[in-house]
Amino acid sequence: MTFSGIIVAAGSGSRAGGDKQWRDLGGKPVLRWSAEALLNAGADELIVVVAPGAQDRAAQALQGLSRWRAVSGGEARADSVRAGLAALACGPDHPVLIHDAARPLLSPAVVARLIKALDTADGALPALPVADSLRRADADVMAGVVDRDGLWRAQTPQAFSRKTIETAYAAWTSAAAPTDEAVVVQSHGGQVALVQGDPRLMKLTYPEDFAMAEALLSQTPRYQSRIGSGYDVHRWGPGGSVWLCGIEVPHDQTLIGHSDADAGLHALTDAILGAIAAGDIGDHFPPTDPKWKGASSDQFLIHAAELVAARQGRIVNVDVTLICEQPKVKPHRQAMRERIAALLDLPLDAVSVKATTTEGLGFTGRGEGLAAQAVATVELPAT
Ligand code: MG
Repeated sequence: MTFSGIIVAAGSGSRAGGDKQWRDLGGKPVLRWSAEALLNAGADELIVVVAPGAQDRAAQALQGLSRWRAVSGGEARADSVRAGLAALACGPDHPVLIHDAARPLLSPAVVARLIKALDTADGALPALPVADSLRRADADVMAGVVDRDGLWRAQTPQAFSRKTIETAYAAWTSAAAPTDEAVVVQSHGGQVALVQGDPRLMKLTYPEDFAMAEALLSQTPRYQSRIGSGYDVHRWGPGGSVWLCGIEVPHDQTLIGHSDADAGLHALTDAILGAIAAGDIGDHFPPTDPKWKGASSDQFLIHAAELVAARQGRIVNVDVTLICEQPKVKPHRQAMRERIAALLDLPLDAVSVKATTTEGLGFTGRGEGLAAQAVATVELPAT
């Protein structure tokens, strides 16, 4: 599900005390929330339309993000949207989502509903039914009741194919500025679908809206929990010691393998890779590659941890179980935990190593091989 995004951030936002797109919300500029939401939801290009001269400010607010570029907008919203459309690189049939910077709490679910609606409609916008009863007022005095039946609160982003919105804008001849893009497309004869909006997608208009958005954010999980499992087996062969969970344990046999055959670290590496759906240890360190002959498995584990870090995630805890009759693991268990904690930069109480026998049953019971299984919990930034 890829699409192009346009964020309109050229307004002065006078009602919220000025420049609301640059204001801090939960530690990030409002504009950055909106940009990250579109990029995380699958935007393959993002045009950020800012006031003339505000490009540097945008670069600062969006530092470290990719696939975006800033262009200068105009006085009216429609001028800014036109400037954003002109800057797109996508083809005519590609979906374009046009979003207000001041609606920072956009969920991927809303984006998915918009894109799906384009299968059957010329455009789509998120909307919420009006819950309060509506009154018409003359100054401060009630002058009548407005039937709220069929009334909806329109939100953004609004979605169209590039050619639909460009054609409709080209045909907009009214001197009056359009309220939004859905109005432009509808006035050109297009059918615009309403999809389920989101109360969290509120527009930050008044200073008190920021307090409400901060409160919503404080209740929103910033991370998603992931669990991965790993399993590994190596065969016993002649030797004088064995590597288990990063520790060399004296033994009258060793485990046979291409690397140091540390089944404990291999299972743990696979558990971490599993938590981030990054394949398995063999994908990253092919056993056919002579480079890994006799290699210390420490580096496999460190590589998996680096992949988690590259996704701005963190490992929460790990738990390894070694399955064998011999050697006795318990005397080495503390050293193994400390080694893994050091390799993963985790506190000791987040690292568990356990051992069990299989009561003489199966290949581990017969002493043909050692098995290890592991579980890892990882937190990744919520999308
Ligand atoms: Mg292995």
